Amino acid sequence: MTSPTRTPNSPLNRAAVSSADGDARPQVLPAAEGWEQQRTAEGRPLLQFASPRVKQPPQHLADLTLAERAETLKELGLQPFRAKQLSTHYFQHWTTDPERMSDLPKAGREELVEAMFPPLLTEVRRLRTDDGNTIKFLWRLFDGALVESVLMRYPGRITLCVSSQAGCGMNCPFCATGQAGLTRNMSTAEIVDQVVAANRVIAAGELGATEHPDERVTNIVFMGMGEPLANYKRVMAAVHRFVDPAPEGLGMSARNITVSTVGLVPAIRKLADEELPVTFALSLHAPDDELRDELIPVNNRWKVDEAIDAAHDYFRKTGRRVSIEYALIKDMNDHAWRASLLAKKLNQRGRGWVHVNPIPLNPTPGSIWTASEPEVQDEFVETLRAAGIPTTLRDTRGKEIDGACGQLAAAE
Ligand code: SF4
Repeated sequence: MTSPTRTPNSPLNRAAVSSADGDARPQVLPAAEGWEQQRTAEGRPLLQFASPRVKQPPQHLADLTLAERAETLKELGLQPFRAKQLSTHYFQHWTTDPERMSDLPKAGREELVEAMFPPLLTEVRRLRTDDGNTIKFLWRLFDGALVESVLMRYPGRITLCVSSQAGCGMNCPFCATGQAGLTRNMSTAEIVDQVVAANRVIAAGELGATEHPDERVTNIVFMGMGEPLANYKRVMAAVHRFVDPAPEGLGMSARNITVSTVGLVPAIRKLADEELPVTFALSLHAPDDELRDELIPVNNRWKVDEAIDAAHDYFRKTGRRVSIEYALIKDMNDHAWRASLLAKKLNQRGRGWVHVNPIPLNPTPGSIWTASEPEVQDEFVETLRAAGIPTTLRDTRGKEIDGACGQLAAAE
C-alpha cells in the first residue's frame, strides 16, 4: 500500500489546500490495497479497451432478433413461426425445458432446444440478505469465467444489477473486478440470461415476500462487473432484448434500464443517438482531474469536463435526466470544496438536467477505501442541495454480502 497522503508540493495537495477555505482535512490518495495495479511504461494505470480474442459462448436465441431467429430455424429445416413459440417460452415463461414446450413437435424437440438454448450461466453460489429481499448470484460462464448479478426487492419494484464483461479493463484502484483485468466481453445472451434466470427465481417465490403473482424484474442497472460501454454492441443488443415487446423480448420499459459508465465519452455520444430512452448514469466520483486521473484511470483519456459535457448532451438529445454517481470515500473525495466544484460544473451547463447520487461506502477500518464520517456526508449532500442540485443518498442494499456491484465493490 502506498502512503495515503501526498507530499505538500504535489498538485493534488495544492488543489486541496487552495480550495478548502480553511478545511484542514487531509487528502487521502487512491492506491491499490493488497494488489499491484498494472501500469503503462509512463506509469499511468493500464487501460484495456479491446476484448482479448477469446472464444465467445455458443449462439443462443437471445443473441438474435426475432427475424434472425426465424432465419436460423429455417436453416435448421424448421418453420419460421417456431421462432415465436421458442421466444415465448424463453421471454415469457423463463423456460428452456423441452418438457414444458408441448406446442413443439415431440420429434426433434430436444435437439432444437439444445441448438437454440445452450446453457450459458451455471449457478456457483447464491447469497441472501435483507430478509431474503436481496440475492447475490455468482455465475460460471461456459469458459469458466465468473460473473455476478444482484437481485433486489423494493416496495413496488424489483431491480437486477447485471454484469456486462467478465473482468474489466478500466483498472479502477478501488474495484475488485478491475484487479485481474479484462477476460472478455460477455455475449448479448449471457447478459440477457441473467435477467431471465432472476425472473425464474422470482416466479419460484424465492425473493422475499411476494407482492403479486406476476412479479418479475422491473428495473435493470448495468452496474455489475465490467464497463458496459466498452462492450457497446452487445450491451445495446441486450437492451433491445429487454425492451422489445414480448415475445420478441422482455417488454420492459427503457426508462427502467440504467446504463452506467465511468466516462467513455465517444460511446456516451453514440448512446445518445440510439433513440432508446434508457436512464444514463455517469460514475464520476471526483469533480477534479487531479484526483479523478488516479481514482478512475479512464480520466486520463477523457477528462471530467468532457465526460460532463457528454452527459449533458445526452440530456439535451434524449430529454432524460442524467444521474451522477459519487461514492463518498473518507478524506479522498468527500471534501466540501469538491461538492461545491461539482455543483458549479453541473450548474454551468444548465438547471434540471442532472441528479447526483452520493453512495456511502462500507466502513472498512484500516483501509483508505472507507466510509465518510456521517457529518461529512451530510455536508457534502447539503452543499449540493444548497447549490440547487437534486441529490439523493443512495441505498447500498446488499452490502453485507459484498453485493454492491463492481463499481461499488470498494476494496472488500
Ligand atoms: S469500477 Fe467499474 S469500470 Fe472500474 S474497474 Fe470496476 S467494474 Fe471496471
